[in-house]
Amino acid sequence: MNLKEKIFEKIKDGKFLSTFCNQCKKHIWPPSNNCKECFGITELKDVDNKGILLEISYSHIVDQKGYFGIGDFSGLRIIGKMDSNIEIGEPISISKVRANKDNKIIVEFDKLY
Ligand SMILES: [Zn+2]
Repeated sequence: MNLKEKIFEKIKDGKFLSTFCNQCKKHIWPPSNNCKECFGITELKDVDNKGILLEISYSHIVDQKGYFGIGDFSGLRIIGKMDSNIEIGEPISISKVRANKDNKIIVEFDKLY
C-alpha cells in the first residue's frame, strides 16, 4: 500500500492520519514520504483532534452549500465543513472524516466546549 492508500484505509475507520517529520516535529501535508524541509523520512501519525478555527467562509456551490472553516491542528491546516455557531479563534475538533466518491477527504468540524 502506498501512503495515500494507507491514509484512505484509516479514514474508513474514521481516523485521520497525516505524514509527520520527527526531526522537525511537523506534519507534512499533502502526504509525502519525505520532509520538505530536512528531506528526512516521514511517518504516519494521528492528526491532533484539537484545533483552533482560523477562518470562515460560505460556499454557494450546489451540493456544497454551507459554512466552511480553516482549522489549525498542531500546525496542520485543514478545511472543514462546520456550523455557523463557531467563531474565529474558538477551539474546534474534527467530528467526522470521510472520503467522497472522487477520493477527496471531507472533514467536519465541531465546536469544542
Ligand atoms: Zn523534517
